[in-house]
Amino acid sequence: MAVPRLSVVIPMYNEEAVLPLLVSRLRPVLDGLGRTYEVVAVDDGSRDATAAMVTLMRAKWPELRLVRLRRNSGHQAALTAGLHRSRGDHVVTIDADLQDPPEVIAEMLGLAEAQHLDIVYGVRGDRASDTLFKRATADLYYRLMRRIVGNRMPPGAGDFRLLSRAMVDALRQLPEQAPVYRLLVPWLGFPSGQVVYTREKRAAGVSKYPLAKMINLTVDSVISFTAAPLRLGIWLGAIGALACAIAAVKVLVAYFQGAVVPGWTSLSLVVLFLGASQLICLGLLGEYVGRIYHGIQARPGYFVGEDSLTEAGPEPDFPDEPVRPRRPDARLRRPG
Ligand code: UDP
Ligand code: MG
Repeated sequence: MAVPRLSVVIPMYNEEAVLPLLVSRLRPVLDGLGRTYEVVAVDDGSRDATAAMVTLMRAKWPELRLVRLRRNSGHQAALTAGLHRSRGDHVVTIDADLQDPPEVIAEMLGLAEAQHLDIVYGVRGDRASDTLFKRATADLYYRLMRRIVGNRMPPGAGDFRLLSRAMVDALRQLPEQAPVYRLLVPWLGFPSGQVVYTREKRAAGVSKYPLAKMINLTVDSVISFTAAPLRLGIWLGAIGALACAIAAVKVLVAYFQGAVVPGWTSLSLVVLFLGASQLICLGLLGEYVGRIYHGIQARPGYFVGEDSLTEAGPEPDFPDEPVRPRRPDARLRRPG
């Protein structure tokens, strides 16, 4: 198959309920663009019929391609697999649940081509369909992230965006273990534009982002971009030292006045405060040491079990490995 001009990467985790709706809405949009395209459906180790359904749909939609990960590796890792294997001059990443309207893709592509942009962010103008909790946590997340990466990150830009081939290649060269694309993409500093859209309700199925995954994404986001939290220890230590100096004066005065009161309350407070701040700092150190450890282990973030395009795929999965002559690799093949 000739190299398509547009790739649409869709991470999917247990999305059998929404798949038929997605295909019926996405296909007319892509067919109407008047250019060659591929849809890279990345099955992130789903336990339902997602992969089987994509395989069936491929019979009627040859542009649909299945990249199947061996185990659930998370949204960002699924995006990585899709980006690394996409071939188009432009690559759009979009959620499977139709919260991001596929019709916006045409607008993104038009803007990128008219203004020679490497990035077009999909920016959520109206999030009324999200729950209050989701909106509040998302708001907090974007405020924090904009403090860290700076104003290049548009507030409300998620993982619905268009990237140029140059941008995708730049992302591939980064040796990140846990890439957080909504931060990495603005950080690279390529020319960008935005398309505002209304965030719709999930068309079917339930959210695959429980609170634990949201917290993980936030921790990954912060730690992959700044070492500032490590300074918390210094600040807590400084506050502790100040409090200690004031207490020392009080204690000495009391001692010389001969009024030594057994200060159980103050003593417990001091011990609790210092114990808690030490544990916080230790935990923070642990997060960074853990990242360093993972970095040294250098395990890939995902394993591709199957790619419907070719057996080994057009590109190696580990960008920093030298490109070897292609040969069947037992590790990457599905058994049987
Ligand atoms: N997803 C994934 N792997 C995961 C979790 C989610 O590939 O471990 C995909 C999911 O199928 C969807 C996208 O990531 O296409 C966004 O997930 P979801 O819509 O559940 O998140 P929410 O919109 O609730 O934040
Ligand atoms: Mg969603």
